Amino acid sequence: MDANWNFDNSYARLPERFFTKIYPTPVRDPKMAVLNRSLAGELGLCAEALASEDGVAVFAGNRIPEGAEPLAQAYAGHQFGYFNMLGDGRAILLGEHVTPSGERVDIQLKGSGRTPYSRGGDGRAALGPMLREYIISEAMDALRIPTTRSLAVVTTGEVVMRETELPGAILTRVAASHVRVGTFQYAARFLSKEELQALADYAIKRHYPNGEHASNRYVFLLEEVMKKQAALVAKWQLAGFIHGVMNTDNMTISGETIDYGPCAFMDVYDLKTVFSSIDTQGRYAYGNQPYIAGWNIARFAESVLPLLHDEEEKAIELAQKVIEQFPALYETYWLEGMRAKLGLFTKEEEDKKLIGELLHLMYTYRVDYTNTFRSLTLDEWNFCEQQFRDWYARWQERIARQGVTKDEVYERMRQNNPAIIPRNYRVEEALTAAVERGDYTVMEQLLHALQHPYAYTKEQEQYAIPPEPSDRPYRTFCG
Ligand code: AMP
Ligand code: MG
Ligand code: MG
Repeated sequence: MDANWNFDNSYARLPERFFTKIYPTPVRDPKMAVLNRSLAGELGLCAEALASEDGVAVFAGNRIPEGAEPLAQAYAGHQFGYFNMLGDGRAILLGEHVTPSGERVDIQLKGSGRTPYSRGGDGRAALGPMLREYIISEAMDALRIPTTRSLAVVTTGEVVMRETELPGAILTRVAASHVRVGTFQYAARFLSKEELQALADYAIKRHYPNGEHASNRYVFLLEEVMKKQAALVAKWQLAGFIHGVMNTDNMTISGETIDYGPCAFMDVYDLKTVFSSIDTQGRYAYGNQPYIAGWNIARFAESVLPLLHDEEEKAIELAQKVIEQFPALYETYWLEGMRAKLGLFTKEEEDKKLIGELLHLMYTYRVDYTNTFRSLTLDEWNFCEQQFRDWYARWQERIARQGVTKDEVYERMRQNNPAIIPRNYRVEEALTAAVERGDYTVMEQLLHALQHPYAYTKEQEQYAIPPEPSDRPYRTFCG
């Protein structure tokens, strides 16, 4: 049986200091935990072959498929504001699979053993966090938020040492690429201008091919990456997604969400929401995400500065002209998304105020973000507070002024307000069943429901229930 892997490894053709060729470290007793059959299909891969012993051996790093050229990528990055040399410390890129329709995707094993970039780490990953990445990344994709995907999780038959012994696992991550802002920072800091240029040309060719005809291709690259990131973070805000570790090495050039370590979805609307146990200062709080994205883009601009213009002053001027557009651009995307969530087709000056008032009411009365929009969408709005009633009346007047039918308004809202999100307690429940009891049915049901977040089916209703209020805040760990 042939899995139909079709590797062509363009990243391996970059100058050699961008990576280290290295094989995954074989594991003792690999077993499939979860396989994404629908993604396999989209990629032109044969799910049956992937599920076979040979397929599992590939996901475990025990067998290298024909055409793969395993390597660990070098990169740097600002972690919580501080610059560090990093690199794939526990991930190995098998190569790039080219799908039957010509799409090129990275196939990466996460948790596949030590590399020269591992520093003190063991190069391994635990089952819980890998399943968590699988669930949330697939939910993000279904929510139409650009993201890396998860093709499979295998258990290794080995334990990893964290605070306690945990079962080991490897996640196969599929991405448009793993080129990061941090990859550019690495080249700018440690490599030659020629090598930096090779990386920029590579990124343009792979992700922004229109730039090949631009008058200044590197200004074009900066603009496009900025637009993609502004659009992405707007989608996070609209969905209530908190990434949790927006370090520059976790920001892709393609504009996909990457690194599902400490992320989580917000329940009660509050700009200060932080879930990550290590984000003690709240740097990556929900309300800060757009500013951090802008900060990261400024780091990207600094990295490509030598390519923008031969004279430094002119280069800075060009960079500044681009990045100063970020806040307005972000707001445009966000406002567009919020109008859609409220069933607005037209634009009015007062819309921003109307939206702001609703958010402020959610904050004041500690109500659930997703479910507030859900109840508006279902026309099941039942707030007793007068302020909510006043707001509702104003919103009703606003939608009546558009000259579209009520059906059209509610249809637009259904398309833009998810009926369900991966609630933290639901994700935890699925992980506990899988990791502690070997019972994957809870996770499979959750995954099934999360595949159609805009469907508003009866079966999904149980997943819309918000958590019981708790005096213990939900905490995430990097895993
Ligand atoms: P992250 O905060 O998840 O983006 O990870 C930051 C860096 O730490 C990356 O270079 C990872 O490859 C590395 N890293 C995380 N966990 C491990 C581990 N268990 N062993 C080696 N390196 C790791
Ligand atoms: Mg990372
Ligand atoms: Mg991580």
